[in-house]
Amino acid sequence: MKVTQTIAVGTPDGLQCLREASQSGLALCFPGVGSAFARQNDPTCLIVAKDGVTLLVDVGTTIPRVLSSRGIGIGDFDYYHVTHSHADHIGGLEELLLFDHYVINKTPRLILTEPYKELLWERTLRGGCEHRENGTFQFDDLADFIFPNVIAELPREIYEAEVEGIRLVIFRTVHIPTEGDNSGSKFWSTGLLIDGRVLFTADTRFDPLLFEQLPMDNVDVIFHDCQLHEPGTVHATYEQLKTLDNDLRGKMHLTHYGDMFQKFDSATDGFAGFAQPWAIYQ
Ligand SMILES: [Zn+2]
Ligand SMILES: [Zn+2]
Repeated sequence: MKVTQTIAVGTPDGLQCLREASQSGLALCFPGVGSAFARQNDPTCLIVAKDGVTLLVDVGTTIPRVLSSRGIGIGDFDYYHVTHSHADHIGGLEELLLFDHYVINKTPRLILTEPYKELLWERTLRGGCEHRENGTFQFDDLADFIFPNVIAELPREIYEAEVEGIRLVIFRTVHIPTEGDNSGSKFWSTGLLIDGRVLFTADTRFDPLLFEQLPMDNVDVIFHDCQLHEPGTVHATYEQLKTLDNDLRGKMHLTHYGDMFQKFDSATDGFAGFAQPWAIYQ
């Protein structure tokens, strides 16, 4: 995938640029490429577009404002998916649900596995969304759901869904290693394989088994979580990713990175580069 254009600040309808670009095939754009604590970039968030259909992956706390800088409303997407319950990925979801309900009278379509739907509502969203003017909301009152099918349980849970020609494989990642190693986690976190060819890890610690357990044959681009400082407790570090094979690194664009990125020469280190905010990858 190559960058074909960049959506500039002040573009009146940035989502339309992506819809048009996606008429010639899958198009991706990251409104944010930063870590949870970055200040130079917004939190990592991905727009997937294909044949004019749009999907927003992750809605961090500041993402509604970030989208508006390119004329995009938080309620404008056809589908939504979230990878895990850290605020830099879900902090803007309450706004999406309440804005859609009270302001634009729309019901957002969320692609969520059934176990995570429950966790997301009970442990995060319910506090701010449950009570209404007369009575209470359930999650189902505020969103429609597409539930992916389970396609593998061991050694890693993998799910699959297809929406209007966009094929998503959703796989568990080890972001917070509650079991003390990389074997599993009580913390729900997932990444995405899009149309069999784009791997987006979302947040994960260094986990090379991923590349053995996923169907990698047709993957031509990887967007990988990258923390620039050591140690890599809950994120993969730049130094750890440098130990991967040339072939993997050559396809790998780094995301979720901190503000020190200009001190790193990703090309010399064999990476495809740091993912660029608002660039359209096709
Ligand atoms: Zn994060
Ligand atoms: Zn996280």
